[in-house]
Amino acid sequence: MDSTVGFIGLGHMGGAIAEQYLKAGHKTVVFDLSEKLMAKLAAQGAQAAGSARQLADSVDIIVACLPSPAASHAVALGEQGICHGRKVKFYIETSTIGVMACKNIAAGLAQYQIQMIDAPVSGGPRAAAQGKLTSMVAAPAAAWDQASPVINAYSGKTFLVGKEPGLAQACKLVNNALSLSTLALACETAVFGVAAGLDAHTMIEVINASSGRSAATQDKFPASILNRHFDYGASVRTAAKDLALFVQEAQALGMDVSGTSRLADIWKNAEAAGDPERDFTTLIQHYETAPDVIVGRPA
Ligand code: NAD
Repeated sequence: MDSTVGFIGLGHMGGAIAEQYLKAGHKTVVFDLSEKLMAKLAAQGAQAAGSARQLADSVDIIVACLPSPAASHAVALGEQGICHGRKVKFYIETSTIGVMACKNIAAGLAQYQIQMIDAPVSGGPRAAAQGKLTSMVAAPAAAWDQASPVINAYSGKTFLVGKEPGLAQACKLVNNALSLSTLALACETAVFGVAAGLDAHTMIEVINASSGRSAATQDKFPASILNRHFDYGASVRTAAKDLALFVQEAQALGMDVSGTSRLADIWKNAEAAGDPERDFTTLIQHYETAPDVIVGRPA
C-alpha cells in the first residue's frame, strides 16, 4: 500500500492533524474548499488536490475532518465524493457526526468497496499540535491494521472501542456532552463567583485544587477565558452541533436527557446570538450580563 495519505478538511482541527502528520515526515495530499487553507498546507510540503474525488484517485487512505454530518456525507458520497475515486480503500472519519450519520456513510461507502474507519478525536488544535490528541476508533480488525499507523502518527493515545462504525462516535458524543455541559456550567458558576466579589484568577486556582475542577477550569479558563483571548480553537457552531447530536441520538434511544437538553439550548442560543464562528470559550460572555462582572482580564 502507498504510504501517501490524503487529508480532507483543513480547518481548526483537520489543519492541525495534517500538519502533525507532515511534521512526522509523511507525504500528504490535501483538499479543502478554502484555497487559503490549502495554500497553508502546501507551503509546508503537502500536495494540493482539486476535489475530494481527485484526491481519492491518488491515495489508498483518506483522513476527513469536516464540520457537519452533511459535509461528511457530501465528501464521502456526493457527486465529487471520494466514493468515485479510483484508488481509495480506507476512509478515516475523524469528524464528530454522530452514530446514525456514521453508519449511513459507512454503508454507502461499502457499496464502493471502501471501508469507513470511525475515528473521532478529542483534544482540540492545541493538543493536535503537541501530538496529544486522543483518537477513539471503531473498525474491523483488518481495517484497524491498515489505519492504525496513520491514526497513531497524529494521536497521543488511540483506543479501539469496537468493530462497528458508529461506536467510536457514541464514545465521542459522551465525551463532548460532558465537556461542553461542564464548560457551560463552569461559565455560569464562575460569573456568579465574580459577581459575589471573588477575584477570577484566585477563584479558578482554588477550584482547580478542589472537587469542582474539570477540563473547563483546568485547560480552557487559563488558556482562553481568564486572559480574554478567546482562542481555544473550536467554534460555538461546532459546540452547538455536538451537544445537539448527543440530545438527538439519546432521545432516539428513548432516553430522558432533559438536563443536557437544557444545556444544548444554551449553546444553540449562543450560536444564534452572534457570529457562530467565534471561539466557543466566548460562551462566558453569554453569562456576563452586568457590565462590571467580567471573569478575568487581558494578561
Ligand atoms: P472547521 O470549521 O474549523 O473546519 C472544517 C473545514 O472543513 C473547513 O476548513 C471547511 O472549509 C472544510 N470543508 C467543509 N466542507 C467541505 C467539503 N465539502 N470539502 C472539503 N472541505 C470542506 O471545523 P473544526 O473545528 O476543524 O472541526 C472539524 C471536525 O472536527 C468537526 O466535526 C468537529 O466536531 C471535530 N472536532 C473539532 C475539535 C476542535 O477543537 N475544533 C476537536 C475535536 C473534534
